[in-house]
Amino acid sequence: MGSNGSERTRIVHAGRNPERQSGAVNPPVYHASTILFPTVADLLAPPSHPLETVRYGRRGTPSTFAFQEAVAELEGGDRCLSYPSGLAAITGTFLGFLKTGDHALIADTVYGPTRGVANGLLARMGVETTFYDPAIGSGIADLIRPETKLVFTEAPGSLTFEMMDIPAVAQAAHARGVTVVMDNTWASPHFFKPFEHGVDIAIQAATKYIVGHSDAMLGTVTVKDSHFEPLYKAWEQLGYAAAPDDIYLAQRGLRTLAVRLDQHQKTALELAHWFQSRPEVERVLYPALETDPGHALWKRDFLGASGLFGVVLKPVSRDALAAMLDNMAYFGMGYSWGGYESLLIPAFPEKIRTATHWAAEGPLLRVHAGLEDAADLIADLDEGFARLAAAG
Ligand SMILES: *Cc1c(COP(=O)(O)O)cnc(C)c1O
Repeated sequence: MGSNGSERTRIVHAGRNPERQSGAVNPPVYHASTILFPTVADLLAPPSHPLETVRYGRRGTPSTFAFQEAVAELEGGDRCLSYPSGLAAITGTFLGFLKTGDHALIADTVYGPTRGVANGLLARMGVETTFYDPAIGSGIADLIRPETKLVFTEAPGSLTFEMMDIPAVAQAAHARGVTVVMDNTWASPHFFKPFEHGVDIAIQAATKYIVGHSDAMLGTVTVKDSHFEPLYKAWEQLGYAAAPDDIYLAQRGLRTLAVRLDQHQKTALELAHWFQSRPEVERVLYPALETDPGHALWKRDFLGASGLFGVVLKPVSRDALAAMLDNMAYFGMGYSWGGYESLLIPAFPEKIRTATHWAAEGPLLRVHAGLEDAADLIADLDEGFARLAAAG
């Protein structure tokens, strides 16, 4: 398929090869471990390309290859590999590019379990990590040592949504030969094009917006050809194989990514403005808002905002907060996000970060604006604030 169409057209057509699948619109699900070869010569022939030749189920089937082709095209890289979760994609990237004695720089606002990998597995391997302020920009240069191999970014940050100047960080890192990784889950490939802003390796927790229906775990890593080899070796040696049914669900979810994200954005903006108007609210953390400190960077680099944002409340008692959250009609409470449904949970960044101080007096809520009617969601939140006031 050509890659010259507009973004919306590419989301619909990327990775589709109906001529290879009896004309079926969607790539079929291949369940396979053993792949049979007709002759010894075929069995022993080296694969023409690891991401196109089916040789063993673990290394991918046509289901896997079609999905990876689509994600690579939408992120704007050359090659993509799939992983059984977003976190597996992150660990697989670290293990591909870091070895004992190396040093990694990781944003202080990174997804919590990413920090867990750095402080656990990487520390045990003898890889040292420095967490940095996400506002660092080109100042990242001051933290780069001779043994620094990788700068890990995420924008906006998990829980608190601080923006990062990705091009400035990338430029400083590249000047010293350091690889730049980005967790691009929040924006998805639809709202941020990592390779146009200096990123070398782009990660998706496809579990979130790509799958989009809260029913599968999946991760992807997309790279330019220059970074494929080390990534592929680690992926192969770790034995990561994403399940074909989950790949299918992700491929299916991908086709509606643009329309879903447009709606998530619209509803999130409506909810964010409503929160801003409420006396219970201290501030709203969402770079799409003009009042957000990250708005200028977001506007410069991003193509849109997804449905996940934060709300800092004025101080309230734990019981008052529970009275609100325990009784929501439409907002669910649970981890993960990016599905069609709205979610609302308390979050505690002050317990996690080490390089910066989280200085909010009241509790932080993380909101995922789902695809429900915005007026219904606002009514639900309005009743929630009434319960909070009554209990407070
Ligand atoms: C959820 C998430 C991950 C991890 O994805 P899983 O599929 O849950 O392992 C990674 N990064 C970010 C930003 C996430 O929100």
